[in-house]
Amino acid sequence: MTHRGPKGAPAIGVAVAFKSTSFAPSAIIPNLMHWRTNPKLTGLFLPNHPDDLQVVIHDGGPRITSRRAEAVWVTVTGEESDVFTGRVLNQPTQLQSVRQGQQIRFVMSAGSPHPVLITDKYLRERPSWRIHPCQKCGFSELFDAPSDLIRVVFPNVPEGAIMDAFTSFCPLCGGVQMLEFADSGDESGPLPPQKTKPWWKIW
Ligand SMILES: [Zn+2]
Repeated sequence: MTHRGPKGAPAIGVAVAFKSTSFAPSAIIPNLMHWRTNPKLTGLFLPNHPDDLQVVIHDGGPRITSRRAEAVWVTVTGEESDVFTGRVLNQPTQLQSVRQGQQIRFVMSAGSPHPVLITDKYLRERPSWRIHPCQKCGFSELFDAPSDLIRVVFPNVPEGAIMDAFTSFCPLCGGVQMLEFADSGDESGPLPPQKTKPWWKIW
């Protein structure tokens, strides 16, 4: 099978390979690595290492931990619905929940120059909440699972209680983010979750 480039010119680049009807490996591999062309990550990859970018990792937000977030280099290995998977390339300097070589998951958010690490627990709880972007920087994710935030912000609220809405400090800039409960998710309980009146209403 011959590779068909323009006559007299060397076959260059992906564009030529994609137009070819032959399925040369060089045409298939970039296509599988669709994170490389995901618009959320545009401009973030290193030119010479097209799967490597910086990700903000953390042990949690400011209500949960005093350890600060760090940026580390990560090789992206997968993507599903804008949730990316990758391997951490360097050892964090002071964080405890992430190590060099570990697989992590992360998302890109408005307001952040880099994608941020998310936990499995956060990913499970995320669909039940509407996170209003930070009023200062626009960040629209959290470092903590909402249930963990509720436990520390409202220590007297009974276990399992759901707040209608509450505010939290943006883990990137210290601004204010508001969380609104959007969906009870689990319908199997005998009663709807106990709701607490919002105290944050200032506008
Ligand atoms: Zn912010």
